[in-house]
Amino acid sequence: MGLIVQKYGGTSVATLARIKNVADRVIKEYKKGNEIIVVVSAMGDTTDQLIKLIKGISSNPNPREVDMLLTTGEQVSIALLSMAIHDKGFPAISLTGSQVKIQTDDRHNQAEIMKIDNSRLRTELDEGKIVVVAGFQGVNSQDDFTTLGRGGSDTTTVALAAAMKADRCEIYSDVEGIYTTDPRIVPEAHKLEYISYDEMLEMANLGAEVLHPRAVELAKYYNLKLYIASSFNYKPGTIVRGVEEMEKRKNVTGVTRDEDEVKITMQGVPDQPGVAGRLFTALAEHDVNVDMIIQNLEYNNMNDITFTINKENLVRGKKVIHEIASKLGVKKIDIDKNVAKVSIVGAGMISTPGTAAKMFQVLGEEEINIQMITTSDIKVSCLIEKKYAEQAVKAIHQVFELGNAEDVEEKAR
Ligand code: ADP
Ligand code: ASP
Ligand code: MG
Repeated sequence: MGLIVQKYGGTSVATLARIKNVADRVIKEYKKGNEIIVVVSAMGDTTDQLIKLIKGISSNPNPREVDMLLTTGEQVSIALLSMAIHDKGFPAISLTGSQVKIQTDDRHNQAEIMKIDNSRLRTELDEGKIVVVAGFQGVNSQDDFTTLGRGGSDTTTVALAAAMKADRCEIYSDVEGIYTTDPRIVPEAHKLEYISYDEMLEMANLGAEVLHPRAVELAKYYNLKLYIASSFNYKPGTIVRGVEEMEKRKNVTGVTRDEDEVKITMQGVPDQPGVAGRLFTALAEHDVNVDMIIQNLEYNNMNDITFTINKENLVRGKKVIHEIASKLGVKKIDIDKNVAKVSIVGAGMISTPGTAAKMFQVLGEEEINIQMITTSDIKVSCLIEKKYAEQAVKAIHQVFELGNAEDVEEKAR
C-alpha cells in the first residue's frame, strides 16, 4: 500500500476505449489499497489540432490566449477518465492545474512549476477518491492559465509525485520503456532496464520525446525513481534513477535525433572583442536558447558565426538577430531549416577514447556531411542535412552495437 502517481500520455487516452482501459489499470491499483493520483494528457493529437486552429487565426498569437486554448485539451480527458472510473463503480474526481494550485512562473507557453499546494489533493485522497489531474498546465501569479511546453504532462507528474512524497511515480505511453534509440526508426533498438538521470536528461534534451527534459531534471533533484512503461500491456519497463556505485558505465547508451533546430549563419561579422557577447546576450534576453555555435577563421577583419536555435523561437529570434545584425553591420544572414541533429549519449564516453571518432567515421562512410559538432562529457552531437537523419541514426546505432536480434523477434511476435 502506498501513494502512486501515474501518468498516461496522449496515445494512451486517444479513444474512448483507451480511456476505459486506463480506468481499468488505475482501478486495479486502487483495489490493492493504494492511493492514486492520475495525470493525463490531451486525447491523441488534440494539442496539435488546437495549435492548427491558432495558426489559422494569427501568426503572432497572444501567449496568454494560447494557454487559455491549449489547457482545454487536458480538461476534456480528465473529465472523461473520471466519468469512466465512476461508471465502473469507483470514486474519482477530476481537477485542473488551477484547482490543484500548480503555481508556475509567468512565462506563458513555457512556464516552470514553482510550487504545488497539496492540500486539495490530500483532502480528496483522504475521502478515498482517485484523483485525476490535468497535465501540462498550471496557474500564474495573476491566476491565469499557463502551460509547461510540449510534452509537459511528464513534468506535472514528477512535480506532483515530489510534492506528495509519492511511493511510486509511473509514466505510461505507447512504448514499453526507454530504448537505445527511437524504436519507431530502428526496430532492433534495445529496451533498457535502467538509465541514469544524467543520460536520460541528455537524451530528452537531444530529441528523445519519450520524456520531457524538465521532468527528468526534477526527478534527479528530488532523487525520485521513475518507471517508464507501456499502457497497452504489463511488460517490464525502464527505471530512471541515479547511478549505482561500482556500476559499469556504458560507453554509448543511446542515439537520438532532433529535427527542431534551425541553423543561422551571420556572414561578415566584424572581428572585434565583445561581438559574440552582444549577440548571444541579446538572444538570451529574449528567451531564445542557443545550442550549437561555431565561429570560423577571420578574413579581412570579418568572421562568420553559425549557431542553432529551436524552431519554436525562430520568429522571436529572427527579430533580435536582424536588429543586432544591422547595429553590427553584418553583411548577410542565412537561415537553414533543413537540418537535423543526431547525437550519441553515454556516461562512460569520457573514459573511452575514440568514441566521437567512430561516430564521425560512420557518418563519413554513409557519405553524410557533418556541418557542426558539439561535445560534452556524456554526449557528442552532429548537425547534418535533415534528409539523412534516419539513415544516420540507424548507422550509428549499428556501429555501436546497441541493438539485439532478440528484440526484433520479440516485437514480431
Ligand atoms: P506520450 O504521448 O505518452 O507522452 P510521446 O509520444 O511523448 O508519448 O513519447 C513516446 C514516443 O517517444 C514513442 O512513441 C517513441 O517513438 C518516442 N521515442 C523517441 N526516442 C525514444 C527512446 N529512446 N525510447 C523510447 N521511445 C522513444
Ligand atoms: N498535451 C500536451 C502536448 O501534446 C502535453 C503532453 O502531452 O504532455 O504537448
Ligand atoms: Mg510525451
